Formats: sequence, C-alpha cells, structure tokens
Amino acid sequence: MSLKLHNTLGRETQDFEPRDATAVRLYSCGPTVYNYAHIGNLRAYVFVDVLRRTLEYLGFGVRHVMNITDVGHLSDDGDHGEDKLVKRSRESGSSVWDIAEFYTEAFFRHAGQLNILLPHETPRATAHIPQIIELIQRLEEKGYTYTAGGNVYYDISRFPTYGQLAGLDLSTLKAGARVDVDTNKRNPGDFVLWFTKSKFENQAMVWDSPWGRGYPGWHIECSAMSMTYLGEQLDIHCGGVDHIPVHHTNEIAQAEGVTGKQYVKYWLHNEFLVLDKGKMSKSDGGFLTLDTLIEKGYDPLDYRYFCLLAHYRSELRFSFEALDAARSARRKVVSQVQALMASAGVTSDTGHVPTGPVPDSSPANEYLSVFRADLEDDLNTSRAVSRVWAVLKDDSLPAEDALSGVLDMERVLGLGLSAIRPEEETEVPEAVRALLEERQQARSARDFARADRIRDEVLEMGYTIVDSATGPHVKRRDS
Ligand code: AMP
Ligand code: ZN
Repeated sequence: MSLKLHNTLGRETQDFEPRDATAVRLYSCGPTVYNYAHIGNLRAYVFVDVLRRTLEYLGFGVRHVMNITDVGHLSDDGDHGEDKLVKRSRESGSSVWDIAEFYTEAFFRHAGQLNILLPHETPRATAHIPQIIELIQRLEEKGYTYTAGGNVYYDISRFPTYGQLAGLDLSTLKAGARVDVDTNKRNPGDFVLWFTKSKFENQAMVWDSPWGRGYPGWHIECSAMSMTYLGEQLDIHCGGVDHIPVHHTNEIAQAEGVTGKQYVKYWLHNEFLVLDKGKMSKSDGGFLTLDTLIEKGYDPLDYRYFCLLAHYRSELRFSFEALDAARSARRKVVSQVQALMASAGVTSDTGHVPTGPVPDSSPANEYLSVFRADLEDDLNTSRAVSRVWAVLKDDSLPAEDALSGVLDMERVLGLGLSAIRPEEETEVPEAVRALLEERQQARSARDFARADRIRDEVLEMGYTIVDSATGPHVKRRDS
C-alpha cells in the first residue's frame, strides 16, 4: 500500500504523490499569538506533527514551515473587528510586541511538552513585511486589486475559480453573511490585502508601503511566508476546518493569482475539538490550555494520547473522563514498556534504548506492517495506537523484539513511551527545576548559547539534564 490522504480539494482520498519525494513541502498555519493556544488549537498541531512524523517514517524527506501570526488577524476571519493583538494590548496595557513574544514562547513550550517537532522554519509575519508588500505589488500589476477608502482589496471577481476549495456558491454569498458589510468592497467576498485606514486609532504595528503606512491582512501573510520558504507550489497545506471557507480560500486566490500555477496539491484539514457546552474559542476567555491540564495533574502526553484516539477528520469531544481514560491507558503502556526495558537490560537515560531500524528477521515486523498500513490509510491513528497494545499483549514476542517494535511505533506516536519514571525526579531541588524551566524558555527562543550556559550551571550544582522523548529531565550527576 502507499500513503493515502484525504484532500479537501475535491473531497476525496487520494494517493499521495509529492512533486519531489526528497523534500515534501509542508506548510501549516501557525498560531495567532495574542493569547495561549487552547487545547483545541493544540489538536491542530498534534495532527500536523503526526502527519510530518508519518511522512518521515515512510521515508519521505520533509520541509515543514509554520508561520507565527503576530499582526493582521482581526477579531473575525474576514475583515471584521480589531487586530487581535492590538485589542489584547489595549486590554492588558502591555505592548503588542511583548504580547507576541510572550505567547509565541508559551506556544513553543506547549508544543515541546506535547512532543511536537519544531518545524524547520517558523517565520513571523512582522519579520516578512517586505515579502508581503512585494506579493501585493505583483497582484496589483496583474490587476487583481483595487484601492478603496485607503485600503487595498483583492477583487475576487478577477479569479474565476474563487471558492472552489470550499465549494462556495458565489451567487448566494450575501454581504454580511460570511463577511462584514464594508462599503468599500465591490463584492462582499473581497478581502483586504493592506490596511491603511484602520477603524481604530493607535494601531501600534504599522509599516510604510506604496499604499501608505499600514499593516497587512492576515491571508496575504500566509501566502507570502509559505512561498518565501517553500516556493510557489506546495505539496501539503494544513489547518483546522474553520480555515476552509475564508483563510485558505483567500490564500489560493492570492498565490494562484500571482503565479498562475496550482498553489497546493493536497489540502488537509483537522476537525475541531469541542466541549460539551459547544465550541472552544480562543477569544471568549473560557478555554482550556495545556497548563490547565498540567495543573490538574495530567501529563501533556496524556492529551496527545487522547488526540490520537480519534481520527483527525472526526470531531473530538473533550471531557475530563475521557482524558482520565487516556491517562490511565498511557500509564499502562509506559509501565509495560519500562518492564520490557528492564528485562531487555536497557534504560532510557543511558542512551541504550534501541532506536535503529527493526531487523527484517524480527517477529515484531508483523505488527509494524499493519501499523504502517494504518498510517497509510489517511492517518488512522487510533488503529495505529491499538498496535502498540497488540505488541505488548503478545507473550510469544521476545522482550527485545517487543521493545524495538513499540519504540519504532513511538517514532510516529511520540507518546513518551520510553520515558524515565517521574519518581526518579522527585529529589531535584527547586532551584534546579527553575533553571530547567529557564533553559526550556531559552531553547524555545532558540537562544541555544544561553541554554548551554544554563546546562553548565546545572551541572555545577551536581545535576545532569537528560533530554528524552518527553522533554528534559534532571538527575543527580553521580547516579
Ligand atoms: P488560531 O491561533 O486561532 O489561528 O488557530 C490555530 C489553529 O487551530 C488553526 O489551524 C485553527 O484552524 C485551529 N483550531 C482552532 N480552534 C480549534 C478547535 N477547537 N479544534 C481544533 N482545531 C482548532
Ligand atoms: Zn494561514
């Protein structure tokens, strides 16, 4: 079998054939950093992480880019409301830059705790204003734009296949239904590429442009950053289902308007995580973050396990009862893997965990081939997780084989199955823990020199930092 993925474009499951198998060009829409990511947002990033790990597991090279939206995302996905970061700044009294920095760091910390691999590039919109302006200029040259009331708009009537991704019927698209009523717009579906006339005073983030001082629309940011880092044609573009009708629809219109070529071959969208009381929203304040789960005693990887039990295209209902079940299941798996490690004479912190390819002769391969087939079937993660259990239940498998089979699966699942048991950490002094946290922050900010200095400081205090699948742990130097 070969990898099959469900393409939102055309709504069918297709064989995955990248343009260039040595480097699958993967782009995922990143967080809007005006607040913590809620656990629903994090479901979207766990999904992309499993996709990327699957591609790598199957032997594809991957180049993964995820942006950070730190300007231009208004309260609504269209052009309605105030910039989310500016609004937050006004409410909190902190500068927009400080807010963006704080929540970007928090996002990377949460992603790390969930074993989400860092994308190869994580461009920030505010650091790509020249590329965004250039893209708007190219659209302007090709006649896709008009200026009205000081803003630059994309004219969707110039792009005949507008709305194809979402199956939009433009004749029924009414002003005010999907978009707000903006009297500058020629068509209700037109959208802003560059704002100069903000509806709000004191717009903190503004740049000079050929159209006046202002700031970019959210949609153009993603087109500019994806094409800057991955070229004009991507293999896969991901995001939550909410992005289909507006954000991704507009990204296609922008990119294909400029290049005349197909922008993305496979569009993949994850369904929502929902609460019993309905949608989880980042802006209504009543949302759950990963820190909330940690405070309640869960391991972030319990949440990752919970996410993997559902297919990414199914809505997932969150409840603490369901998370409890995921936690106890994951704990059982971890303790069985620990037992296997003990009988196979390996430990996770001495670096002797088998991580290489499982030999062809190993009986574990029978399980690995079905595991692989599950993933190739549009990422059937719940079945893939069940294969871990099947290996652990098979008493006829020698411990070494069972262990190498499970750890091979762990390469995609990322569930911390070879983690050090938490008891080993209990004696670590508070000062060392604080330094560990500081080092994580330095690493999130990619200040590796500072991270290394902290590691040395910890060493001088008599402790070694061990980076493992579940994140860093500390143990006594002499133990
Ligand atoms: P945002 O930071 O609001 O731009 O959203 C980040 C990502 O999370 C996007 O891909 C959204 O589509 C996705 N997303 C938003 N809410 C949820 C949810 N409740 N469940 C799953 N994904 C979501
Ligand atoms: Zn995007």
